[in-house]
Amino acid sequence: MEVKVLSPERITTIGLGSPRPVYFPKNVKELLKLLLKGYPIIGGGSNVILSESKTPLISLKKFSYIKQEGDNLTVGAGTPISRVLRFQVKRKISILEFLAGIPRATIGGIVAQNAGAFGREVKDVLISVKYLDRQSGELKELKNFSLFSYRSSPFPELGAVVEATFKTTPDTFIKEKIERFVNLRLSKQPPFYLKTAGSTFKNPETAPAGKLLDLCGLRGFRVGGVGFSEKHANFAVNYGGTFNDFSKLIDIAREKVLYHFGISLPLEVKVID
Ligand SMILES: Cc1cc2nc3c(=O)[nH]c(=O)nc-3n(C[C@H](O)[C@H](O)[C@H](O)COP(=O)(O)OP(=O)(O)OC[C@H]3O[C@@H](n4cnc5c(N)ncnc54)[C@H](O)[C@@H]3O)c2cc1C
Repeated sequence: MEVKVLSPERITTIGLGSPRPVYFPKNVKELLKLLLKGYPIIGGGSNVILSESKTPLISLKKFSYIKQEGDNLTVGAGTPISRVLRFQVKRKISILEFLAGIPRATIGGIVAQNAGAFGREVKDVLISVKYLDRQSGELKELKNFSLFSYRSSPFPELGAVVEATFKTTPDTFIKEKIERFVNLRLSKQPPFYLKTAGSTFKNPETAPAGKLLDLCGLRGFRVGGVGFSEKHANFAVNYGGTFNDFSKLIDIAREKVLYHFGISLPLEVKVID
């Protein structure tokens, strides 16, 4: 089975942590062996912070395919969403346009995080998820998404997402919609060339996390080489820092928000040890 030691920049968009071995299983049998060892799963690394540990990771990059059957689209877990968006433009269909412009995200990651934007989330367009169950080692299918909620799903705890089937609807203006979503994103978020992992904290019910951080004076605040973006306070940016800087930044932010507003901010990014 292919394994490569990759730099944190190759593994995650924020690029913190240590280089790690990454395994690339090419089928379910190889994937099961790695899952049983308890190695964490990595998608495009766009919502992950790596610690300094050297624990190997599992990438489903080789599970990359798109199959269309009638109105359904089945996509392998390792397929980047950018590939699905290009497919949507070619076939003039609507599915994941609300996620357009998120760098490197994959199907496995958007299902696991129940990613969302502009009032829509992944569970709204899902029909089924095929996954390798951690407990039984069997391939199973999930069709009920009642356990999915805001930026949360039963994965990866339940197992590895292997593929997902989405419902599609015809959309003549899909190309224009994708462009609009990318532009909207660029107007609110830090520029694409900065190293970030998207939203650091989930939004509590009372107010957006970015607003709370801003009110605590944390917009642009840095610890060592990691700081909150000037453009959007909930985006942590790596300006050349370490995992330790990130951890300290998070602790300070949580303490301040708790002190000023009595709100305990939940992390949206996944810290992988
Ligand atoms: C600039 C920027 C903007 C962003 N904007 C948004 C946004 O608008 N909305 C939003 O929701 N998110 C946003 N994100 C965060 C991120 O893109 C999403 O959470 C995305 O779903 C992560 O996908 P990924 O493939 O990169 O997964 P990763 O970040 O690699 O992993 C995320 C989690 O999913 C798990 N996982 C990955 N693949 C699998 C699999 N096959 N099976 C089981 N578990 C798996 C990982 O173990 C981890 O727990 C943004 C990120 C960036 C960098």
